[in-house]
Amino acid sequence: MSSSILVSIFEGGYQPINALTGLAALRNAGHDTDFLDAYVEGYDIDRLKDYDTIILPVPLFDSLNSAIRLCKELDDAGCTADKVMFGQYATINAKYLTGRYADHVVSGEWEVPLVSLMDRKAGSDKPVINVYSNGRKTPEQTMQMLKLRGTMAKPMRQSAPNLSKYPQPHLTTLMGEEKIVGGLELTRGCHHKCTYCSVFSAYDGKVLLGDIAQIQDDVDALVDQGMEHMTFIDAEFFNATRRSFDALAQIHKRHPALTFDFTTRVDHILENNDRLGELYDHGVRVITSALEFPKNEVLQQVRKEVDVDDLKEAVRLVQNSGITLNPTFIMFNPWVTLEDFPRFHDFLVETGMEDAVDPVQFETRLHLYKGSPLLKNETIKALRLEEQEFHYDWFHSDERVDELFRASVTPAVEGEFKRCCLKC
Ligand code: SF4
Repeated sequence: MSSSILVSIFEGGYQPINALTGLAALRNAGHDTDFLDAYVEGYDIDRLKDYDTIILPVPLFDSLNSAIRLCKELDDAGCTADKVMFGQYATINAKYLTGRYADHVVSGEWEVPLVSLMDRKAGSDKPVINVYSNGRKTPEQTMQMLKLRGTMAKPMRQSAPNLSKYPQPHLTTLMGEEKIVGGLELTRGCHHKCTYCSVFSAYDGKVLLGDIAQIQDDVDALVDQGMEHMTFIDAEFFNATRRSFDALAQIHKRHPALTFDFTTRVDHILENNDRLGELYDHGVRVITSALEFPKNEVLQQVRKEVDVDDLKEAVRLVQNSGITLNPTFIMFNPWVTLEDFPRFHDFLVETGMEDAVDPVQFETRLHLYKGSPLLKNETIKALRLEEQEFHYDWFHSDERVDELFRASVTPAVEGEFKRCCLKC
């Protein structure tokens, strides 16, 4: 009997939903797969190396590098296990990863492909779906993403460390009190096509909806683990606006003490301006929104479909609702000039956000991962780029901007993550 383990490495400091949905799909299909959350529990190479199959979720850029480090450690230890990767950044890099770091890489939604792969290993002759294997350039069988609607599994929460092991210091700062935090998603993907976004790269503007009854069960499971605050980790909370309002209302009715945060775009804040009070009444305490940079050229280049006046109006509306706005920025990008930084400060003063911005946001830099649609942008093509394994380092046309960036970067703080959202 072959043995397998799914090892979660990093999902933004949350109890790992990608890992736990993959695990649920496998176990529900009869595969006796073990689970380890290395983020909380660490890992022991000697214990891992004897498995026949090691499955690694790679939802974020940070988990990609960590997964590769782990694969190299396993190789160095003489491990001959088949390594399998899945998740957003596995999807974006599937062709490169397969045969190099992983034996099998799932492209796209993972539940059905993972089961098809493990079925094959168990002797099934059915096709393996959407999996790049052993360096081959095409999967044995492909299935369109929309055909995989309805396959999102309910996360196997009982197999993970308790929620108390996943503190979220940034939310503590924003809310002014420490709470036990859980995260779940109503949807995967996003309808929008912001040019820098890895969700766009992986989902190409498509959205998959989770099953609402299943989501309610998952909320119950999280509350049983002590959840006091819930993050909707959807890339875009208003992927399906009416459904999102309804789901929130139902969860609030069932668990009225819960508070919430979610991520949404400026244009969705504007569209739903008359319902922000309802969101507050239903427990929403923090909204994260990517303001990018208060300069119209930047907003146009990253295709946000709003202008600076819209940013100001969205900030005003959220402030008036009683909900805390958690703005994110791409402070250092190719379209800002040195003169724009004082203007950025003026914007913060004008909108009353001088003290509302996480200091991490003052050092964010456009991330040019391989596969980014921005690589086709004319400004980017004109920059000096240095190729790295999974991304490009880029250099501003005015080196004084890069000097300012280097002077802005602060040392990492343990348990806090320098990121603009939960999907990159
Ligand atoms: S940045 Fe947000 S709104 Fe834009 S494509 Fe990505 S997830 Fe969607």
